[in-house]
Amino acid sequence: MSRSAPVILSFRRTFALLIILVVLPSAGLSGFGVVAIINERAAVEKRLEAAWRGTLETLSQELPSALASARLEDEGGALRLVASDGRVLSEPAGTFLLEGGRAMTEDPQLAESLATVVPEASSLPESPTFFSLAAGNHTVLVVAEREGQVVRGVRLSVRALEALLTERVEPRAVSSEPVRFTLLPVPRETSGEGGLMGKLVSEVAQARASALGPQVLAERVLSPPLQDFRLVVLPTGEDPVARASTRNRAVYGVLLGLFYLTLTFGVVYTGRVLYREARLSRMKTDFVSLVSHELRTPLTSIRMFIETLALGRLKDPAQMQEILTLLTRETERLSIFIERVLDWSRIEGGRKVYQRESLPVSDVVDSALAAFRAQRLEGGVNLQVEVEQGLPAVLVDKEAVAGALLNLLQNAYKYSGPEDRRIALTARRVRRWVDLTVEDNGVGIAPKDRKRIFERFYRVDNLMTRKTEGSGLGLAIARRIIEAHGGRITVKSEPGRGSRFTIHLPVQKA
Ligand code: ADP
Repeated sequence: MSRSAPVILSFRRTFALLIILVVLPSAGLSGFGVVAIINERAAVEKRLEAAWRGTLETLSQELPSALASARLEDEGGALRLVASDGRVLSEPAGTFLLEGGRAMTEDPQLAESLATVVPEASSLPESPTFFSLAAGNHTVLVVAEREGQVVRGVRLSVRALEALLTERVEPRAVSSEPVRFTLLPVPRETSGEGGLMGKLVSEVAQARASALGPQVLAERVLSPPLQDFRLVVLPTGEDPVARASTRNRAVYGVLLGLFYLTLTFGVVYTGRVLYREARLSRMKTDFVSLVSHELRTPLTSIRMFIETLALGRLKDPAQMQEILTLLTRETERLSIFIERVLDWSRIEGGRKVYQRESLPVSDVVDSALAAFRAQRLEGGVNLQVEVEQGLPAVLVDKEAVAGALLNLLQNAYKYSGPEDRRIALTARRVRRWVDLTVEDNGVGIAPKDRKRIFERFYRVDNLMTRKTEGSGLGLAIARRIIEAHGGRITVKSEPGRGSRFTIHLPVQKA
């Protein structure tokens, strides 16, 4: 296990490098794109602002002269402001009177605003004067004239002024976007209250208002005495800035999504290939070291026997015979092992070809039993065989499947104690399967090993296993063979009481 660590580590390192090399620059690139989109929006806004600035300039200059050319008319006590073209520019109920330090009007908002100018009433010019007033939450535009100690005036209609302005601009359209001109109060600073905290709060409130309020394309504060109002260009209909940036955002979003999709795919794919490579190279080194280790033991014994023979000191023919028998057994072990390894390599390399034919199940069972009985089994074995009558045929490579079954029988023999060794082989049909079960009363397998015994070269580490010969390939090969036939091998076991391996083979379809 420890030998595999460097490989896994280098896999991780390579993968981390891949992530850093690919993901970091791409994240930077996406961030850059987002910034670019935001900047682009700001640029569009700036362009529109620049486009409207000149118009606003002219308009704000024209407004005072347009107002100056209007006349104040008295209509039965009520005042109204009439433009040169006969249009009324004042609010119908906006007449007011400042007299004796008091403001009189029907308009409550107006009354509140006027309160601030009452003390200065006497210093107002006699000719009609326009000015803005801001008090409380209201901002109003008024015109007033003085006759002695009495000041009379009227509130201007912002609506009417807007119409007037919009009319003046229409002929010299600046951009193709439909817009509207409005007079809005200048947001007033509520500074002073609560010091820094109050400022912060009002700043946040303003930021929110500008984010939630109408999208202003450009604005200009009117010059005094109308300084409480600003002339604003508002888009009517769809916001052109929003439209442009929404389109760009959508395109960018889709491209970014696609980019990350392919990136994820690429990284996952590369990661998998890397992992497979790393595993493969680990398997190769494991394999080579395991195989050489397995070969060394019998080879050492063989060399020892040969050396003994070569010394020529053995005169007793019985002893000679014994050594030859041992030699034969060791070489047999070697060939069996090498045969197993080759088998495994054929299966792993996908070079194993199965000669499938339709056979009665009993043929497979008999073939495995014959091979099992032919082995020189030391110590007795109580073998019970039970094959159900009328089993359906199976489509199998007889040699391969019988080999797998033989392996189960050999294991049952190997991993049970020499005294009272009982093995039961049964074949029966369970729905669409034919089950070949080999049950023993041996050492059993602990739960944690039950899955792993089917891995190549895995041998449970216990006394029994250490005493018996094996490659750890038998079950791995058997499982591959059975799976190639569309079946599976399962195991039930209780440590100390025995194991039960079952080969489930699919019944051949009629
Ligand atoms: P081996 O050549 O070691 O027998 P296998 O792949 O056939 O290799 O088996 C893997 C391991 O599973 C064995 O080493 C043994 O520890 C365990 N095992 C297999 N069959 C049995 C069984 N019937 N009872 C107990 N342990 C078993």
